[in-house]
Order: sequence, then C-alpha cells, then structure tokens
Amino acid sequence: MSARILVVDDILANRRLMQAKLEAKYYSVLLAENGKTALEMAEAEKPEIILLDVMMPGMDGYEVCRRLKANTATTHIPVVMLTALNETADRVRGLAAGADDFLTKPVDDFALMSRINALNRYNAVALELRKREASGVQSGALTDDEHEVLERGANILVVDSSPSTLRYIREPLTQAGHTVMTLEEAEGVSSSSNRSLDIVLLALSHQPYDPLRLCAHFRANDATRALSIIVMAEERDKQVVAQALDLGASDVINTPVVPEEVVARVATQTRRARYIEILRQRVDKGLELSVVDQLTGLYNRRYMNNQLTLWLRRSAQGGAPMSVVAADIDHFKQVNDKYGHEAGDYVLQEFANRIMVNVRPKDIVCRPGGEEFLIIMPETTGDLACSAAERIRRSIAAEPFEIGARSGQEINVTVSAGVATYAGEEDTVADLLKRADTALYNAKTAGRNQVKAMAA
Ligand code: GH3
Ligand code: MG
Ligand code: MG
Repeated sequence: MSARILVVDDILANRRLMQAKLEAKYYSVLLAENGKTALEMAEAEKPEIILLDVMMPGMDGYEVCRRLKANTATTHIPVVMLTALNETADRVRGLAAGADDFLTKPVDDFALMSRINALNRYNAVALELRKREASGVQSGALTDDEHEVLERGANILVVDSSPSTLRYIREPLTQAGHTVMTLEEAEGVSSSSNRSLDIVLLALSHQPYDPLRLCAHFRANDATRALSIIVMAEERDKQVVAQALDLGASDVINTPVVPEEVVARVATQTRRARYIEILRQRVDKGLELSVVDQLTGLYNRRYMNNQLTLWLRRSAQGGAPMSVVAADIDHFKQVNDKYGHEAGDYVLQEFANRIMVNVRPKDIVCRPGGEEFLIIMPETTGDLACSAAERIRRSIAAEPFEIGARSGQEINVTVSAGVATYAGEEDTVADLLKRADTALYNAKTAGRNQVKAMAA
C-alpha cells in the first residue's frame, strides 16, 4: 500500500535518509523538524503512519506521542518511535505514551519495512471499518456498552515450549487484568470457547513445532482469524519474524522478554482489537450484509469493485504493481446436477476456505457471483500472482471435497484461473478484469485445471 508517512526528526540528514528509504518503496513522505510542526501536520494531513524521533530539543518524542494520542483527530494514527538506544526503559516509556512500535537507530531497512507493512494492514482494516461506519450508523461518542468492551482484559494463550517466559509474564499480565493460558490449560476448554481468545503470544525461536504453520493456521480458521498474534523471537531471527509478519502476526517482542514490555504491547494490541471490535459491532448493526457474500463469507461484487478502484488508483499514484486472479470452478454445473444444489453450495464454501488458506492477509478474496471468484492482490507482480494462483489450483485438485460427512461422498473438483496485472496509468478496472477473463477463458479452452496469464 502506498501510504503517506510523516517523518519527525530534528536532524536534517536523518529526515533526508528516511525520506530516501521510504520513497524508494513508493511511500509518500511528509517531513517535520520539531514536535509542534509534527502535531499540526498530523492533524491537517492525516498521514497513515508517523515515524517519530524520541530525542528532540523542546518537545521530545514522548510528549508528541502523548498529544497525538490524546487528540481524537490523530489518536488512531500508528506511531513508531525511533530511539537511539535499545533501552528497555525507553521502550516502556514510549509504550506508556501510546507508541505503537519502536525502531532502533540506525534503522535497519528490513525491520523498517516489515513494521510498516504490519501497521498498514491494521490501518486497512480500521480504515475500512471507519468508512463503513461513517456511511452507515451514526458515528459518535462511545456508548456505555462500548466502554465496557474497551476496558475488558484480554484472554491470552502463550505458546512456548520453554517454561521460563511464562514464569516471568504470567503474574504481571494477570495483574494487568488479563487471563493467561498455556496450550495444555487451553486443551481442557472446549473448542467453541476459542472464539473468546484475544491474543496469542507465540515463541518463534528454538521451538519443536513449526511456528509459521501455527500462524497460518490461526489466520485460516474462522474462530481464530481475528486473533492478535504477538511473536517472540531472538533479535537475530529476522527472516522468520518477517515471514510471521507477512502471515499476519501483529507485533514482535525480542527475547529474552521483559515483562513490562510484554504488558505494554499486550495493552496496545488489546486496545486495537477492542477498537476494531466496537467498529465491527456498529457495522453489524448497520450494514453488515452490504459487503459480504452470505454463503462463503467472502467479499461481494460491490466491495470488489470499490477495492479494485481504490488499489488501481494507489498503483497509479505510487507505481506499485498489482494483480488480480479470476478463478472459476470447472464443470460446476455437473456438481449441482449430480449431487444437488446443497452439495454445490458446500463445494463453494470449501472452495472459498481453500483459497483463504493460500493467500496473504492483504489479498482481497471476493465472490462476485455464482462459481466465479476474484482475488485482488495488492503490491503483487504478475509472476507472484501466477504462483499464488498455481498454489490455489493445486490445493483444490490435490484433495477431493467431501460432501456430507454422512454420505461419505467425495467429489474431485478442479479450478481454472486467469491472471492479469496492472499495466500503467492508462489501465482501467474494466480492462484489467477483461484481461483476467480472457486469460481464464484461455485456461478453460486449453483443457481446464490450469492457470493462464494475460499480457497487458
Ligand atoms: P466451466 O468449466 O466452463 O466453468 O463449466 P461450469 O459448469 O462450471 O459453468 P456454467 O457457467 O455452465 O455453470 C455454472 C453453474 O454454477 C450453474 C449454476 O447452477 C451454478 N451456481 C451458480 N451459483 C450457485 C450457487 O450459489 N450455489 C450452487 N449450488 N450452484 C450455483
Ligand atoms: Mg533527534
Ligand atoms: Mg465454472
């Protein structure tokens, strides 16, 4: 996403360096050289993210952050503090001021981009909800019920094969009003109460299980999709941390963990999750049916068109690539004819699930109608979209669909897919969709169960 980022630093060379890094990744950059200007620009320009230097003459970063968070016009903008020292006390102080994240100077490019991506993802959800709320239910002050939601402690699951982390953090988290469980303790509880889990603290380093698989699993399951996943890893495990963030983890804590930092980061995640929960409740009361397809839970055609327009515009402005995958189940009419409409519906649902497990959190999976699906892939080249489509095709063909546990019947399902990629400023949503459709048609005529791409 080509977000606008406000960089606040008193030193010109620092501002320039950060600007160059960010612009190289197609972000638009706003600059402020002191706290006062930063506050004014944040309110006037509403950037999507603020990178805030801590040490500045006059008003320091902590104070700027406190004021940003105290102002309703800027409270929702994520703030990343840039500290010269990697001191825990500084981090805790920043978190107490409401900071969403930290980076230590000199800023590592890899860390910078992973964090910005994670915050963008949160922004995208929150923004969409605010927009939907604004067009539906009257926005306004929080009701009493909503206050209660905000105050409620989180249910936290700690997944870590080494017991030492838990020893340090259970007590402080409990004191902060949260409930802490281990996997063993959670096993006794029925799976339906999974829904009430809020946060998973997931250890990445030196684990006997595959933590990335767990991340993907949480994201793919309805009951756990909305969970905040905070991963805990050694600082040098950058690669696996980046992969976890890409799979949808929301935050990272370096190990060995410092209890105060865990409590503060849990508080930030809880605040965000509650905020989204409240917005979602309001939306549910208002226009819940207007964007989601009832059968599969995927986005409907109307939402798809809005998002296509939005992402195409972003690509036109920022130059980032973007692709779409049009997918259509092969000979689906025969499924209905042979096994009945209900079985057909089931196949559509399971088909949607298999797509969801095989895409990234930022991909937007839509069912515009019937047995047609469209996946919008922001920031994705044609090649990458083709491999994603191929992954989906394989996951559909690899295992038969079991229709009805009772009958034990299995159906072999295959899918054909067409990929099209944003082709520059002249391109339109209609043209993009047309190319995806042509590619899909080519995949069908070439024998189905395959992926074709369409050159611009
Ligand atoms: P092709 O490989 O060329 O795509 O063949 P096809 O049979 O999949 O395509 P066709 O367009 O001929 O048939 C699509 C079928 O999808 C017809 C329609 O009954 C069925 N269908 C559309 N929406 C639904 C739905 O919501 N539920 C069920 N069960 N079937 C649906
Ligand atoms: Mg400074
Ligand atoms: Mg079909």
